[in-house]
Amino acid sequence: MTRQLPAILVEPDVLDHLEEKVVVVSRRARPHPSGTRVVYIGRPSALGNPYRIAPGYDVARDPDDVLGRYARWLERQLDTDTAARRAILEIIAAVCIGETIALECWCAPARCHGDVVRSLVLDTIRGAMHDVLALEQ
Ligand SMILES: [Zn+2]
Repeated sequence: MTRQLPAILVEPDVLDHLEEKVVVVSRRARPHPSGTRVVYIGRPSALGNPYRIAPGYDVARDPDDVLGRYARWLERQLDTDTAARRAILEIIAAVCIGETIALECWCAPARCHGDVVRSLVLDTIRGAMHDVLALEQ
């Protein structure tokens, strides 16, 4: 699925290093590598996960539940002008001009909703570039 994005310019070398342009870091592991723009995505930020793991919930038995719910929630946020959508677009714009974004959360390096955010950002940029390249042919 291709999402409609504002027009963006992507610096030429960004696509060659796209995988490294968004990293998920622990808020407990400050300071973060220099040269990164830190974006806090824990609660109560725009990209915070509204789903909580209840005390006693067995994550190991259902590891995808909370992140799966978050992924579906995030997809819905992108359909209208929400704070989460604006935050995602800001991250995409920063990556496209060559910045490296450190998504900072409490749960990293354990599985974190930051992984969902990272995938969405990278997939969206790849999808947009695919469309541009298709148009150029
Ligand atoms: Zn997290």
